[in-house]
Amino acid sequence: MSGHHTSAPELWKRSARALAAAVAAGECDALAAVNAGWEGPAAAWERDVHAVVHADPGARAAGAAASAPGPLRGVPVVVKDNLCTTEYPTTCCSRILAGYHPPYDATVVERLRAAGAVVTAKGNMDEFAMGSSTEYSCYGPTRNPYDLARVPGGSSGGPAAAVAYGLAPLALGSDTGGSVRQPAAFCGVFGLKPTYGRLSRYGLVAFGSSLDQVGIFARHAGDVATAYAALAGPDPRDATTRTTPAPDVSGWDLGVAGLSFGWPANLWKEGVEAEVVAAMEEAAAALERAGARRVTFDFLPGEYSVATYYLVATAEASSNLARFDGVRYGFRHADGADVRALYTRTRSAGFGPEVQRRILLGTYALSAGYYDAYYLTAQRARTRIRREYAAAFARCDLMLMPAAPTLAFRLGEKVDDPLAMYLSDIFTIGANLAGIPGFTVPLGLAGDGGRTGAGLPRGIQLLGPEDAEPALLRAGRVIEMGGERARLPRAHESEFAWPTRR
Ligand code: GLN
Repeated sequence: MSGHHTSAPELWKRSARALAAAVAAGECDALAAVNAGWEGPAAAWERDVHAVVHADPGARAAGAAASAPGPLRGVPVVVKDNLCTTEYPTTCCSRILAGYHPPYDATVVERLRAAGAVVTAKGNMDEFAMGSSTEYSCYGPTRNPYDLARVPGGSSGGPAAAVAYGLAPLALGSDTGGSVRQPAAFCGVFGLKPTYGRLSRYGLVAFGSSLDQVGIFARHAGDVATAYAALAGPDPRDATTRTTPAPDVSGWDLGVAGLSFGWPANLWKEGVEAEVVAAMEEAAAALERAGARRVTFDFLPGEYSVATYYLVATAEASSNLARFDGVRYGFRHADGADVRALYTRTRSAGFGPEVQRRILLGTYALSAGYYDAYYLTAQRARTRIRREYAAAFARCDLMLMPAAPTLAFRLGEKVDDPLAMYLSDIFTIGANLAGIPGFTVPLGLAGDGGRTGAGLPRGIQLLGPEDAEPALLRAGRVIEMGGERARLPRAHESEFAWPTRR
C-alpha cells in the first residue's frame, strides 16, 4: 500500500481478472485489491443501497494476508448469506438463525479461497431465499443502485447490487427459481445459474434441494468464466454433484459463428414490458451479426412452470426447514414450557411471514390425502416440462428468453401480493425444474424514448441444455461486445454502465 502502488479509486472499477492480474504482477498488493471497493465510492453507495449484512475489516485483512496465488488472487467476493463461511455469521437473513456461526466453509467458498479470492462480505437476501425483491430480509431491504426507490430483484439482491455499484467485481448467490438471473437483470450485471450438480451445494443452506444451484454474478462475461472454472466440478461431500469433469469454459471469447439460438416469440406477445422486448431484439441482432442463426418456434408458456415450482419448492422447503427448531441452531424462544411449545414459539417468532406461508403450503401439499393430487401431479408436470426443453434443444443450441417480464419494480409494489411476486420468476423457474443452465446478460440501460423505466438496467436470459455453459458464455460475451466477431479485444472494462446518484 505504499505510495507508488495503484490507489483504490482505480482498482474498484476493475474486473476480477484485471484485479488478479494486477496483484500477480505486483502492481498492487492483495490488501489494496480486497479493500478497493470499501475505500472507493462504493462505501458511500452502501449506506443507501444496503447490499451487505455482515462485514469485518479484520477478516478482510486476514483474508488478504492469506490470499493464495491463483486465478482470483486478491479478488474481493461478496457471498450471499445462505452460504456458510467461517469468518462471518450465516443467517439466511432470518431471525431464526440470529448469531449462527458455521463451523465450516461451503465447498464453493473453499474453492474461492483456493483460487486466491477473499470473501469481503455477506450479501443481503430474501429470508431463506424465498422472494424476488430482497424485501423479505430480516435486516431490511436492499435498494436498486440505479434507482433507490426500486428493488434490486431477489432473492440474491444484495450480491447483485454490490457487484453493480462496485463493492466487488464478483459475487455468489443461489438460484432455486431465478434468484441469480432475475436480480442480475434488475441490476444490470451478468448472472449465471449453472447446470444442476455442477457447483457443490455443500454448505449452501437448503431451500429446494432438487432445484438449488449456487450462481455467479460479475460485470463481465470473462469473470463469470474464470469463477465457473474455479468453482465447478465434483464434490464428494455433495452426492448430487456430477461426477464427470465440468465443461471447459476457457473459450468464452471465441464467438458464436455457426451456433443457433431459439426465439420463442409467443412468450413475450403480451405481459412483457416494451423495454424488455427491445433488449431481446438487440441481443438477437448482436448474435446474428456474430454469425449465429435464429430459429423461431413456440414454447411452453411459463405459467405451467410457476404452478409446478410452487408445489415442488414449497414441499422441499417444508422438509428442509424442519431442522430450525430452536434446539440446534441460532435463535430460541425464551418461554418454551415444554418441547412442543419451544418449537412452536421459536418457529412462529423466528420465521417471517413468507417463509411461514411456504412451510404451510409445502406441508399441505405433502400431507396424506393430498400428496397424490398435488405433489405427485407436480412431479409428473416437472417431467413434462423437462421434455419440452429437451425437444426445444433438439432444434437449437441455445434459447433466448427474457430474464423477467419487467424492469426493476418499485419497493412495496408486490410485497403484499405473493402471487404477483411469484409471477416475476415466470421466465426463470423452468430452468431449475429442468436442471439446465441459464445466463442473464445485461444490455445497457433503458432509454427514455417514451417508454417506462428510463435509466434502469435491462437484461435478457440465455438458456442451454445441460453442460452448455461454454456456449452460454460465448454468446453472453458476444452480446457484451455488441455483436463483434470472434477473437474480440479483451480490454472493455470502461464500458460497464455504472449507476449515477439520483
Ligand atoms: N423467487 C422464487 C421464490 O421465491 C425463487 C427464489 C430463488 O430462486 N431462491 O421461490
